[in-house]
Amino acid sequence: MSINENLAKLSNACGVTGRENEVRELMIRLMTPYVDEIVVDRLENVIAIKKGKEKSPKIMLAAHMDEVGLMVKTITKDGFLQFAKMGGIDDRILPAQKITVFSRKGPFPGIIGSKPPHIQKEEERKKITTFDELFIDIGAESKEDTLALGVAVGDPVGFDVKCIELGRDVVVGKAFDNRAGCVTMIEALKLMEKTDCTVCAVGTVQEEVGLRGAAGAAFGVDPDLAIALDVTIAGDVPGVKEFDTSVKMGKGPALTISDSGLITNPKILRWLVDTAEEEKIPFQLETGLLGSTDAARISLTRQGIPCGNISIATRYIHSPVGMLSLKDIENSAKLTVAAIQRIKKYF
Ligand SMILES: [Zn+2]
Repeated sequence: MSINENLAKLSNACGVTGRENEVRELMIRLMTPYVDEIVVDRLENVIAIKKGKEKSPKIMLAAHMDEVGLMVKTITKDGFLQFAKMGGIDDRILPAQKITVFSRKGPFPGIIGSKPPHIQKEEERKKITTFDELFIDIGAESKEDTLALGVAVGDPVGFDVKCIELGRDVVVGKAFDNRAGCVTMIEALKLMEKTDCTVCAVGTVQEEVGLRGAAGAAFGVDPDLAIALDVTIAGDVPGVKEFDTSVKMGKGPALTISDSGLITNPKILRWLVDTAEEEKIPFQLETGLLGSTDAARISLTRQGIPCGNISIATRYIHSPVGMLSLKDIENSAKLTVAAIQRIKKYF
C-alpha cells in the first residue's frame, strides 16, 4: 500500500495513549510482509525484526503508536462524561469537537459540550474554558442510560476525524503525532533490501505521557544504536518566529541536534547528515527544542545507546487537524534506509 493509504488507515485508527491495541494490530499487519519475526513485549510494544549477520550492528527504529486523547473520569447523574486528558492537549481546541468514546460494547459518537456563550457573564467569556469545565455529551438521558450503553470510567476517547488529502501531497488528519513516524517506519522496511545489520522496528506505547514504552523496549532489544522516527513542530505559519523553530513543512526530514531530553550523538548526526548530502535528500537541522522523543529515553538505557531523531515537520500537532507533506515521509524513509546501507563506515 502507498504512504498515503497507510497514513490514512493509521490516522483514522484509535490509539489513545495506554490503549494502542487498534494501532498495534494494524502495525503488525502492515509490517509482517517485510520482516522475519514480530513479537509483542510485556508493555505491549510491537517489535518487528529483520535479521542480519551476527557480528553486524543491531539498529532499533522507534515510532510511538499512541496519540494524545481523553479518558472518561466521571459520569454525572444526567449522563454526561467528565474527562481527564491523556497527554498534552491545548484546552482551547476542545470545545465543540466531535469525539468517539471506545466502550467495551463498541465505539459511541459524541461531542464535547460547554456552557453556551449566550448565558456566560462578560468575565467568563474573556477567559479560557479549561477541560475540567467541559464535558462529553453522548445524548444519554441519565447515568443509568450511559452505563447501559457500556460506557465506563476509564474508557478512552479519541477525536472523530477522517484523514483527507488537500492536494500537492499535503494531508490533514488526527494523530499524525505519531502515525507519521509509524508510516515512515513501514515504508523504510518496505524499501530496505538485504542488509548485514539486524533491524528492529519498534512501535512503542505511552510516549505521550513520558516516553514509557520505549524504556522497556530498548532494554529488551538492546541495540547498538537507535533512531526515533517522530514528528516535530513546523514553524512555517503566521506568528511563529524563525528563532522559535525554523523547520518547515515539505522541506525534508528534520534532524535533531538537541532537544530537552537528548543531545544527538555526534557520530549519529554525522552519519545522517553525510547520508542525506550524498544521496541528495533534502533535510533540515533543528536545535534547542523544548520537547523530546523516544530517543531521549532510549539513549539512557543500559550503559547508554547512541541515538538520533528523524522527524516529519507537522503543523498543528496534538490537535485533530495536523497537517504534513507526504514527500517528507517519503524522504525520511529513504534517508533511514540509505543510512542503514552505509552503517559500516560509521559504526
Ligand atoms: Zn510524538
